[in-house]
Amino acid sequence: MIKPDAVENGHIGAILEKITAAGFKIVAMKYTQLSVRDAQEFYAIHKERPFFGELVEFMTRGPIVAAILEKDNAVEDFRALIGATNPAEAAEGTVRKLYASNIAENAVHGSDSDANAQIEGAFHFAGREVY
Ligand code: ATP
Ligand code: MG
Repeated sequence: MIKPDAVENGHIGAILEKITAAGFKIVAMKYTQLSVRDAQEFYAIHKERPFFGELVEFMTRGPIVAAILEKDNAVEDFRALIGATNPAEAAEGTVRKLYASNIAENAVHGSDSDANAQIEGAFHFAGREVY
């Protein structure tokens, strides 16, 4: 996902350019806005964390871009491309170093395993929306 902060700040095009230049194939994509229930479900793994309320509020405050990306070693390579959760710790040239504001508003989400990528892809897309 391209998160609401990056959408608000006009970075959709630049982020998609970095993603495709890095060799990812976009197999599904949409511009949409999460409901509170959607965000609570998507980030359910974090529901006991102190920042959960802030995270749900942030993720629902404006539209996002959701996409399914394909590449060999996609999970690891995408997380390398986006950089550390906290942009202050993200490597030079990473998406979060370039476009994130802070640890909460950090421009992009990436799946953390192939299994979660399957679940998250199915969360956003019907089978016929995946090419
Ligand atoms: P994501 O799952 O969005 O790709 P991540 O895997 O790098 O990010 P997680 O630990 O899964 O990081 O945290 C999920 C999201 O919760 C972060 O991307 C960020 O938006 C928010 N978050 C994480 N830690 C904090 C924090 N300490 N304070 C506020 N928000 C946080
Ligand atoms: Mg995560």
